[in-house]
Amino acid sequence: MDSEVSTRPDLSNLEVPIDSWTSPFWEAAAAHRLVLPRCGDCQRFRWPPGPFCAHCCSQRVEWLPAGTGRVYSYTILRKSRATGASDSSRLVVPALIEFPEAGGLRLLAAIVDTPLSSIRIGVLVEPDWSQAVNATVPVFKVR
Ligand code: ZN
Repeated sequence: MDSEVSTRPDLSNLEVPIDSWTSPFWEAAAAHRLVLPRCGDCQRFRWPPGPFCAHCCSQRVEWLPAGTGRVYSYTILRKSRATGASDSSRLVVPALIEFPEAGGLRLLAAIVDTPLSSIRIGVLVEPDWSQAVNATVPVFKVR
């Protein structure tokens, strides 16, 4: 079991919907920087990005570095060989990654290239990047 390593989800057919409210996130991701939106009025982080703050309805937004992430929760998906998955693409680990420096905001993302024995709730992670059709998508590795 110790030799099992999480793999990257196949995003080669994923087209990410991008609009004026999400484009700062994707532009930063293209430069391998992870930023999160914070309300320009009440200073609360907000997710997903959108036109209005859920707390004060402000449209002002600023994008700040996400800071260090940690695993809030995760699961392990084992693809069946019957679906044609190769051994190297059999283990996908979707996780909720929490950012304490961003008000506890949580992103759903994959933990990749990491031994399953290293993945635990609360462990620190660092961003890595996978390419979709039109965007660079954040994934995470255990630090
Ligand atoms: Zn607000």
